[in-house]
Amino acid sequence: MLDLVYPPGLYCICCGKIIDDTRTYRLCNDCMKAMNWNTGRHCSKCGRPLADTDPGELCFGCAREETAGHEHFFDRGHACTSYGACAQSVIFALKYGGRADIGDTLGEMLSDYMLSEYEADELAGMYDIVIPVPIHIEKLKRRGFNHAELISRGFVKRTGLRSDPGALIRTRETQPMKGLGPEERRANISGAFAIRNSRLPRIEGARILLIDDIFTTGSTIDEIAKLLKSSGAETVDFLTFAAAGDMII
Ligand SMILES: [Zn+2]
Ligand SMILES: [Zn+2]
Repeated sequence: MLDLVYPPGLYCICCGKIIDDTRTYRLCNDCMKAMNWNTGRHCSKCGRPLADTDPGELCFGCAREETAGHEHFFDRGHACTSYGACAQSVIFALKYGGRADIGDTLGEMLSDYMLSEYEADELAGMYDIVIPVPIHIEKLKRRGFNHAELISRGFVKRTGLRSDPGALIRTRETQPMKGLGPEERRANISGAFAIRNSRLPRIEGARILLIDDIFTTGSTIDEIAKLLKSSGAETVDFLTFAAAGDMII
């Protein structure tokens, strides 16, 4: 029914302008150009785009963490775009506009991004399990789907990697991170995830790739990476559609 009202493929997923169905990522020309694709230099730790004027290999946030002696728990991050107006419209349409179909398109972007960074064979051997960041069961009931799981599905469909969307559970609802500082974010998310008991043997020694829509300060990804590593995961990387610009905290 929704398809009749709003046929996927006929409208730009960002601005809603009419497009033909051959457009890459279902974006119109303007939005394709306006999207901040992460094709330049990026932070060697979290994958966030670096400014041309940035002298080092690390973004401001990762450099500060390193100096402060508390490095991130995750190993490596990747992001397709730098968060801006276009990425925001697409994420909002998916999460709050009921546009579940956008998940698959973002999965395609994630797949293309990783294949631009790594050879297909290399990527196929890099990870044992792909896990989308879970949302709480109450939020799942309200929204009808976990957006990260839809993105992950589109990603594994194209890369052939193995996913396990049920490996992690969100044990409690947390307040929105918007407006919270780094310490408040860490406290807000602390203890909010658990590994499903039946999956514990699979986590031991595994190289894991987490999938989410956006990377901001890393408190959510770090909380999950800490949990997975305490259960024996060998490495925990993440891949998101967008990364918020450096120093947005
Ligand atoms: Zn557009
Ligand atoms: Zn970084």
